[in-house]
Amino acid sequence: MSTNVIAENIQKVHKNIEAACKRAGRDVSEVTLIAVSKTKPVEMLKEAVEAGEYEFGENRVQELVDKAEKISGVSWHMIGHLQKNKVKYIIDKVACIHSLDTLELAEVIQKEAVKKNVTADVLIEVNVAEEESKFGITCENAEEFIKEISEKYDRIRVRGLMTVAPFTDNPESNRIYFKRLRDLLVDINSKRYDNINMDMLSMGMTGDYEIAIEEGATHVRVGTGIFGGR
Ligand SMILES: *Cc1c(COP(=O)(O)O)cnc(C)c1O
Repeated sequence: MSTNVIAENIQKVHKNIEAACKRAGRDVSEVTLIAVSKTKPVEMLKEAVEAGEYEFGENRVQELVDKAEKISGVSWHMIGHLQKNKVKYIIDKVACIHSLDTLELAEVIQKEAVKKNVTADVLIEVNVAEEESKFGITCENAEEFIKEISEKYDRIRVRGLMTVAPFTDNPESNRIYFKRLRDLLVDINSKRYDNINMDMLSMGMTGDYEIAIEEGATHVRVGTGIFGGR
């Protein structure tokens, strides 16, 4: 019998997702696993596809575009910081941009979406823990930011919020940030603004995705736990 480490890892992650959903009284269908394949070769992604994985996350435009040319029939998520001059390369290739955090970037996404005649699904990146080193807007600014985007840019659909929680050995310590992001989404939705109804919460990575699910994540981004260390 041949063993396939990636397939086994994916199974393990799905088991953990299931257990976390159970603890939280959630249905597993509410949580999507995004396999974060950055830096990993196409062969490894193909193994993941064979194991039934369909959603991939990349953080560099060039790498995403190269891989998208070689692997069809899957969905791509842009999870890294996105430079304005590179939007044009991915706007019609990705299922979702997880990292919108400036109006200038929104302006470019709108322009390129018009050119390619698409509507862009985006998440607003929130730096919940307010770490100096991280991208993202603050919780405080999120509501105004989302309102402005929804009013100004008809080709951008704000689907929800994303955060990269602090790096830690103790995933429990990130629970508060996941909870805060979920509360923020619920709060903004409750105001019933025109065109704002967010349903995606992208939070949780290899070290803390189970906690994120307990706190309401709809999309978890797992790299190391599937493909090994980078
Ligand atoms: C690399 C990366 C991940 C995956 O990290 P792991 O710890 O390897 O699971 C998730 N989200 C973002 C934004 C990343 O850059």
